[in-house]
Amino acid sequence: MTEFKRDGSHLSTCPPVEKWDDWVELDPAAWPQRVEKHYQLVPTICFNCESACGLLAYVDKKTGDIAKFEGNPKHPASRGRLCAKGPATITQIHDPDRILYPMKRSGPRGSGQWARTSWDEVLETFGTRIRKAFKENRGEEVMYHVGRPGHDFIMERTLQAWGIDGHNSHTNVCSSSARLGYLLWHHADRPSPDHANARFILLLSAHLESGHYFNPHAQRIIEGKMAGAKLAVMDPRLSNTASVADYWMPSYPGTEAAVLLAMAMVILGENRFDAAFVKSWTNWEELEVDGFSAKGQSFDAVIDALKRHYAKFTPEFAEKESGVKAEIIVKTAREIATAGSRFASHLWRGSSSGNLGGWQSARALVLLHVLTGSVGTPGGHNLNAWNKFVPRPYKNPPPQKNWNELLYPQEWPLCTHEMSPLLPHFLKEGRGRIEAYFTRVFNPVWTYPDGFSWIEMLRDEEKVGLHAALTPTWNETAWFADYVLPMGFSSERHDLMSQESYAGKWIGFRQPVLRVLQEREGKKFDYTYQANPGEVWEEDEFWINLSWAIDPDGAMGIRQWFESPYRPGQKLTVDEYYGWMFENSVPGLPEAAAKEGLKPLEYMRKYGAYEVTTDVRRLNEKPVAAADLADSQVEANGVVQKNGKAVGVMVGGAPVVGYNTPSRKLELFSKTLADWKWPEFALPEYYRSHIHRSAQAASVGEPTQDFDSRYMPLVEWPKEANGPVYTLLPIFRLPHLIHTRSGNSKFLYEIAHKNPLWLNPTDAAKLGDIRTGDLLKVHTEIGFFVLHAWVTEGLAPGVVACSHHMGRWRLNKEEQLERMSSAWVDLKEVGKGQWKMRQLSGVQPYETTDPDTKRVWWSDAGVHQNITFPVHPDPITGMHCWHQMVRVERASAEDRYGDIFVDTNLSFAVYQRWKALARPALGPGGLRRPLWIPRVVRPEESAFYKKET
Ligand code: SF4
Repeated sequence: MTEFKRDGSHLSTCPPVEKWDDWVELDPAAWPQRVEKHYQLVPTICFNCESACGLLAYVDKKTGDIAKFEGNPKHPASRGRLCAKGPATITQIHDPDRILYPMKRSGPRGSGQWARTSWDEVLETFGTRIRKAFKENRGEEVMYHVGRPGHDFIMERTLQAWGIDGHNSHTNVCSSSARLGYLLWHHADRPSPDHANARFILLLSAHLESGHYFNPHAQRIIEGKMAGAKLAVMDPRLSNTASVADYWMPSYPGTEAAVLLAMAMVILGENRFDAAFVKSWTNWEELEVDGFSAKGQSFDAVIDALKRHYAKFTPEFAEKESGVKAEIIVKTAREIATAGSRFASHLWRGSSSGNLGGWQSARALVLLHVLTGSVGTPGGHNLNAWNKFVPRPYKNPPPQKNWNELLYPQEWPLCTHEMSPLLPHFLKEGRGRIEAYFTRVFNPVWTYPDGFSWIEMLRDEEKVGLHAALTPTWNETAWFADYVLPMGFSSERHDLMSQESYAGKWIGFRQPVLRVLQEREGKKFDYTYQANPGEVWEEDEFWINLSWAIDPDGAMGIRQWFESPYRPGQKLTVDEYYGWMFENSVPGLPEAAAKEGLKPLEYMRKYGAYEVTTDVRRLNEKPVAAADLADSQVEANGVVQKNGKAVGVMVGGAPVVGYNTPSRKLELFSKTLADWKWPEFALPEYYRSHIHRSAQAASVGEPTQDFDSRYMPLVEWPKEANGPVYTLLPIFRLPHLIHTRSGNSKFLYEIAHKNPLWLNPTDAAKLGDIRTGDLLKVHTEIGFFVLHAWVTEGLAPGVVACSHHMGRWRLNKEEQLERMSSAWVDLKEVGKGQWKMRQLSGVQPYETTDPDTKRVWWSDAGVHQNITFPVHPDPITGMHCWHQMVRVERASAEDRYGDIFVDTNLSFAVYQRWKALARPALGPGGLRRPLWIPRVVRPEESAFYKKET
């Protein structure tokens, strides 16, 4: 029997590197003849989620075509393994309907009329328009809005080279809620669990099958389990992850923090916490709670105050809130205490991004790590900042001077990322306009809530002057653009990536496979689109060239950042950009390359990845550098200051670097929250989500004493909304689909293509003997959608659920969206802001150059639910709170599968109600937001201050 090895080498079936130049396999199509096929294998990086796993492209030596993708065994995070989406890249690059050339609209916006154009024309048009905006001091009217980044740093650098505050992202519909919970503890806004070495793993949601860093984490969770770790999953849905757990805790959505705090109380109450760790590494001396102040008090007195404060979080209270049995809460809490420093956990979206106050789940979860001393330990919780490596290029522009209030408005000073879901509302309110808008691998019309407000914004040429959709596939947003610019898939572009996938730091190099191979053979290319299919380009070269188009003679000071470090005054090439970094910014890489007689760039082109270090634990304990210690002062709270900046903290009598928080310790007590108008949340707390039962009762006028209007808005149902009230979980992922980019993968869509409404049999009975397949009408606050029921015991009663992947639609019968994954629809604006969509046909077989499109056997494209949701900006994090309160009823005779109705006048009113709950800046000293909280593309410090008007 095969011996199991922790490094996974026993599973290795990948071709060894020495055979990559001529790898031989038998041609399966020629069976039963044994016909050999010869391949050249070229590493690149998967682009189908954020994990950045290593791919190996198998290039047929006879035809020069890519035949398939497998895993790269030299990639330290994915180690040769992939999820279904990695190999499916082959279907994307060979998709017969893909966009191969830059397109320009030839009719009115949204008319679906397009004509081919040239890259030169695109650069000239945008270069001229942006140059004019910059010269007229309208830099903030230029906006780059990214969905899947797939790279590190290059866009931040580009926008700062342009001198603008113009970076927008999707993060506020994704992860910004969890990020705030994490960063308030330790500045790093993401966890890096060491699952492989853990003794107990707690997952909030379905990380094993579809989580953040899905494949790299999944393989390590399984390793941990095989080595004896217990697995607990908190999720109202019996996901595949929950089905293999030792404990499934089907918590009512939004109550997770109550369960976690009850666990913390068990550990505190039974004195099973790591007192030495808590005493050394938290800011317990700053605690102020319930009239108690830690000033001058002993550590024991502070622990007593904490126990008093959290006394209400009994297992019974948590059971009442969440539905999770009290005995399970106690049992798992004790197992976590026993695992001690080998307790790992993960929370990313799920409960945090679904709920108002969801950030408290992350804050309460880290409390468990702090109590068990499992921070920075083998098998514990590490900081992403310790496990991610972003090399710096040869020179970098200074931070921008301006602050763009379309991105970071005053109402949400603690949001970790841009308030992007509100952009259409901001423009409707007259807060600004956009002159040049780049959406990049980003499809807000479909992915975001309130997509019809996006359509209203995008079709308005006053609000959005010029819009380019940079995308590898057609999507619903591109339909409303002026230009659709085809960008490459995983094997068609350069990018440098690093993720916190395990206890180590690595970089992965995405590269355009066909260009690299032909260059090995001596062919020369100026640009990657010359080697890619059609004229599919890559962003790196696009931004370099656009920067030159904006500032052709260098007079604006922009071009200098895109000139070669080796050939003064000449245009930067991608080889030079990455080659310089690999030579100068990646410790150990030049030496590793030299050992093989290679240059660093050649090494990265050969292997596709490099492990920088595995020395990543407890970096907080590193001594303060001698240079920082010179002329420093130690403050009363032990913080070591130099020139007004904290550089370390005294722990055990020695100066160590600590964490990047104001106290340089793990912040059990957040003075930041107290100073920024949320003193009631200075400690990790639980408060009720917008979909709590008390809010449901209030929405239908039932008496409730529990409804807390300080934090949650009262839902006002549209007149036609009927049926009992439920909580809808709209954000669970299927493991083999990509948010909005798998529509062109026949392999992936063949596996799943429906998104029925999950409901428990008790709810099916309550709604009138609903059976699987019956049509249901789901009312939201702004409209409704109609879909099929799926009756299942795999979901807690009182909750309904719908996967967010499906429901793609196209306005044109034959073109502009993948026909294997979209319904052809009729879309009408029947009154001002009143939108009606009806499916004209589902999926049908169709003729292309790929014979498989004639063999498409499924007809269901699913139903687009997100477009019927209003925005729900959390008053603190600004994160869109995805879970929806809905009313469900059996569909009537007039309703048809896929019907959608939305009133954007109502969605604007919902936005106003949520906005009213925020507690706006300015903060202490006239700050727009706390200086220590990170900001994407951070402006210079002076921009953080605003004078009160
Ligand atoms: S987890 Fe799957 S989709 Fe994500 S990068 Fe890895 S192989 Fe690609």
